[in-house]
Amino acid sequence: MKGFNVSKRAKTKYPHKCATKHCRGLATKSSHSNKCSKCRGRQWRKNHPAKAHYHDLRNRAKQRGHEFTISFEYYHTVVWLGSGYAEKHGKTKESLSVDRIKNHLGYIPGNLQVMTVSENSRKRFVPYFKNKADEDAAIKEAERKVREAFPNGGGVAGGH
Ligand SMILES: [Zn+2]
Repeated sequence: MKGFNVSKRAKTKYPHKCATKHCRGLATKSSHSNKCSKCRGRQWRKNHPAKAHYHDLRNRAKQRGHEFTISFEYYHTVVWLGSGYAEKHGKTKESLSVDRIKNHLGYIPGNLQVMTVSENSRKRFVPYFKNKADEDAAIKEAERKVREAFPNGGGVAGGH
C-alpha cells in the first residue's frame, strides 16, 4: 500500500504505560491505542452506552441459559428509547434493569420490561407503556424496523 506511513507509530515502544492517569495498565502494540484494553473498553462503553447495555444483557441471558432473540434494533427502539431508559441512564441514582415479564419465556420481543432497582434492592415495576395498545404498537413498529434491517430473518446475528 503506497503512501501508508507507519513510521510515526513505529517509533512508539510497546508495551508502554496506559495514557490514563493513575492507570497501571499497559498499552500493547496490537491495541492501536495509547491506552490499555481496560481503559479502551471503558471508553467504548461511554461512547456506545446502548450497545454496551445490549451486550451486557445478551451475555447475562446466555450465561443463565435464557433464550435471547432480541436484535439490537429492537432493543434500541423498545427498551433504550421506548422505556425512557436512555434518559434515565446515568442521570438518576436509581439504576434500571431489564427483566422478563413472563419468567418461563426468554428475552424475546414483547417479554421485556424495565424496572428500577432502588438502593434497598426493593424492586418496583415501571410501566413504560401507558396501555397494551401502545405497547403492541411499539412492538409492531420495532418488529417492522427489525425486518427492514434484517430481511433475512433478523434475530441476534449482526446486531450492530
Ligand atoms: Zn488504562
